[in-house]
Amino acid sequence: MASFEPPASGTPLKMGPDGKLIVPDDPIIPFVEGDGIGPDIWKASVRVFDAALEKAYGGKKKVVWHEVYAGQKAFDEFESWLPDETVEAFREYLVGIKGPLTTPIGGGIRSLNVALRQRLDLYVCLRPVRWFSGVPSPVKNPGDVDMVIFRENTEDIYAGIEFEQGSEDNAKVLAFLKEQFPQRFSKIRFPDTAGIGVKPVSQEGTARLMRAAIQYAIDHKRPTVTIVHKGNIMKFTEGAFRNWSYEVAEKEYGDHTYTWSQWERTVAAKGQEAANAEQDAAKKAGKIIVKDAIADIALQQVLTRPTDFDVIATLNLNGDYLSDALAAQVGGIGIAPGGNINYSTGHAIFEATHGTAPKYADKDMVNPSSVILSGVLMFEHLGWQEAADLIVKGIETSIENKTVTYDFHRLMEGATKVKCSEFGDKIIENMG
Ligand code: NAD
Repeated sequence: MASFEPPASGTPLKMGPDGKLIVPDDPIIPFVEGDGIGPDIWKASVRVFDAALEKAYGGKKKVVWHEVYAGQKAFDEFESWLPDETVEAFREYLVGIKGPLTTPIGGGIRSLNVALRQRLDLYVCLRPVRWFSGVPSPVKNPGDVDMVIFRENTEDIYAGIEFEQGSEDNAKVLAFLKEQFPQRFSKIRFPDTAGIGVKPVSQEGTARLMRAAIQYAIDHKRPTVTIVHKGNIMKFTEGAFRNWSYEVAEKEYGDHTYTWSQWERTVAAKGQEAANAEQDAAKKAGKIIVKDAIADIALQQVLTRPTDFDVIATLNLNGDYLSDALAAQVGGIGIAPGGNINYSTGHAIFEATHGTAPKYADKDMVNPSSVILSGVLMFEHLGWQEAADLIVKGIETSIENKTVTYDFHRLMEGATKVKCSEFGDKIIENMG
């Protein structure tokens, strides 16, 4: 029987006055194992996490895992898809990890993941995309893909402000537009049968995302940050996102960055040669080049010129498409990790990016790498780099040895197929 028992031991993480996490040697980390394939994956993952910590720190640092409930399991046990206790645990203990959750059909909640992100204001969706040698890929040089996407997580059309065609509210919104903004209303091609959505994009929301992206580039010595937007069409949302992002780079990180916006101004004032010289000097000085790309072109260029991209800062919907398209280049969603983070409060939930794959539930078959690599992100976030590195090494070697789960096995020649749990064993064996 599930229950919300308090953790037996351990120390909560705290946020320091300097805005940095205070990480004890025995942090309490809440986890949701997830629905469908979640329990299989969690069992394998937690063994890998504990083994890496033991190997890295010989018992000096360890996680006190604290189970909390969401999704189907929570509904079955507590008649709530997302009990308040779960949100409170993530709030109190700051950092947590979760498996995939069934999306409830009907009833107020659209997506549990979106609800959690909104309630904890986890404004960055962090999606690093890199290739592990040997992973089957549809592109020629998957090793060129090494990008980190900062997807804005709280705004854009994901705010969920929609008005269903034919509803009373929809009629009110259309009537308001017709009365107040007749010219813009006239652009609605079929007003009688149109659903309406609202796309809020704010300066604060943009600025905090961009700060996180630039700080990451500084901390990880990444040479560029690319702002991906559709500002050519949506000027006051996506276009504003571009402009505000450049503003943050120039006003707050001027010592660390050189922007294309600066380059354009120098071209206008002094000509292209002078602007190029200025940019070259900035590169030599180790400054991060902040540039931008229209979303549709970016989706082409991440395929054709992947080395042009390092850190990407983008809005919610663009980020959604871009992260899955990029994940496909390096082995698909079975291996793509994710983190949802509020860098100001310290709240963070790391999570599988795939769903519950119900047809594989309880078969001990699927690839646990998405949750395991999310754990790597979590350990990096805690500053436990040694444990993170051991896990990455374990995964790299296991894949190089061609011992893989069914999803990679069917695409790799001469590979040995192992179960989800056995893949966890291999990672532990191969930590070196
Ligand atoms: P899915 O990601 O669950 O599965 C699609 C297919 O991807 C599977 O059939 C399987 O072939 C493959 N796959 C997924 N994870 C894998 C893994 N770890 N290893 C190997 N192969 C894997 O997507 P879906 O079928 O569209 O959604 C099923 C349920 O999951 C729905 O209720 C959906 O709402 C939910 N969902 C949850 C999340 C989340 O919690 N983060 C994300 C997406 C979907």
